[in-house]
Amino acid sequence: MSAPVPAPVSAPAPVPADLHLLLESGAEMRSNRQMLCRVLPLALCLSLAFGVARAQETIHFEGDVPEGPNTFFFLDFEVPEGIVEIEVAHVHVPEDTGNVLDWGIDDPNGSRGWGGSNQENAIVGIEAASRSYIPGPMPAGTWRVTVGKAKIVPGEPAGYSVDVTLRTIATQEPQSRKPYQDPGALKNGARWYAGDFHVHTRESGDARFTLTIDEALDFAEGQGLDFVMLSEHNTNSGLTLYADAQAGHPDILIFPGQEFTTYRGHGNALGALDNVDYTIDTDGYTIAQAIEAFHAQGALFSINHPSNPLPDCRGCAWTLEVDPTTIDGVEVQTLILPGVEFWEDLCANGSHATAIAGSDDHRAGQDLGTFDTPIGTPTTMVFASELSVDAIFEGVQSGRTVVKVLGPNSPMIETELSGKRVGNTVFADQANLSVVVTGADGMSLRVIKNGDVLEVVQVSGDRFEHETAVEAPPEGEDRYRHELVKGAQRQSLSSYVWLRKADDAPGGGGCDCRTPGAEWSDGALLFSIFFLCGWWLLRHRAAGRS
Ligand SMILES: [Zn+2]
Repeated sequence: MSAPVPAPVSAPAPVPADLHLLLESGAEMRSNRQMLCRVLPLALCLSLAFGVARAQETIHFEGDVPEGPNTFFFLDFEVPEGIVEIEVAHVHVPEDTGNVLDWGIDDPNGSRGWGGSNQENAIVGIEAASRSYIPGPMPAGTWRVTVGKAKIVPGEPAGYSVDVTLRTIATQEPQSRKPYQDPGALKNGARWYAGDFHVHTRESGDARFTLTIDEALDFAEGQGLDFVMLSEHNTNSGLTLYADAQAGHPDILIFPGQEFTTYRGHGNALGALDNVDYTIDTDGYTIAQAIEAFHAQGALFSINHPSNPLPDCRGCAWTLEVDPTTIDGVEVQTLILPGVEFWEDLCANGSHATAIAGSDDHRAGQDLGTFDTPIGTPTTMVFASELSVDAIFEGVQSGRTVVKVLGPNSPMIETELSGKRVGNTVFADQANLSVVVTGADGMSLRVIKNGDVLEVVQVSGDRFEHETAVEAPPEGEDRYRHELVKGAQRQSLSSYVWLRKADDAPGGGGCDCRTPGAEWSDGALLFSIFFLCGWWLLRHRAAGRS
């Protein structure tokens, strides 16, 4: 949400005047030198152009932003064998219209990163890449610059100028990166762990340019958090930096994922290791397909700041049509913005979305804007069997979360619904809805059923307990949660737990075993083992590909 900090821009490689061929406008154009390169061996072509010592070639694109409903367009270029680095310089034409274009790079196999409205040049190489981009093999074939129409001011001319420089000698120093590896359990023991699911570093174009992963982790640890999810916009470019950062921070878990960023809403892909095509609303590609792709790699999809009214946050409010049952979570609080109403609507339409929260911090707490909050405000508490990626994931997936709106020191709510619990649903004809709240003396406790306030109770004492007898509906399901309110300010809220009749239970009903946080019914345990095995396989297959 913060304004991007202009970064040093490396000048595009100068092109000798006698070879500088400006081409006709339009996305299909190719440079004549590129055509020459198609018919001559690369080495000869480069020698002709610059001499062997230069070993680079620049392809120029210039044109008008295409009109029409597609929100992205593509500038294709051919990369021959032997290229080790590609640099993309991009500007708006003219530069001062207020138009905003976003930039990404794809190789023949998929995304090589997304810089959004990064102003500096994008560089992708074998052993190094500029922020937001992914180093790795440089396959020959058709690559492309993906251009997003982030903001086109009506009535103003909208154009672009892009220089793609192909090099056979890298200009960037190799970077210290390692393949992503799950760090395992950082802490043992089933309990509530505090975290923030929405944290940016410099790998996001709109974050502070100097903000490293180490700095974000240092700040989060100072806030008393156990984990953070690094949620960069449409890129997993940070993934190969996690190993070193995690080794330097053995007490705070990096939870992998990314913020899937479109012009009609943002969502967090929890546990995602692979990038997913982000060109929603282009050539018929839909959000449903993107969510399916995240699910296929074993990730959860959660909607971020759904009701964001801030005018300088492009595409932040969620306006995409989705099947509510495909949504795994909703940010019910992001920085100072509540999303509870949106979440309730989604749940009323069949979603079992878990309540999560995120600070959406882009600056590790430094020089925050009026509407910003630092990492840890709000905090999401997750009940997990240990502090590991898989256990936190499972806690979210089964709805065992509490959102502390004002940060880690907000009061705690522990909601339990007696009966056979599978994931976020209890199967019992009658059940006891109990809650223990701590740190909420003098506040109001609300018992919420299906979005409506069922009871309001005055809290007295630092530890306060309350119970409500509830009954499953004859058909379908009801949902229950608790929240704490002080004056008009919501302080903390729990995720919903759903209640269905015992007979609806998978494998039949009848068990009335109580399932407090640390204990498991056989059904829940089997479900979890099955789920975790499947997710582990998917994750490790995904890690093997990257
Ligand atoms: Zn964000």
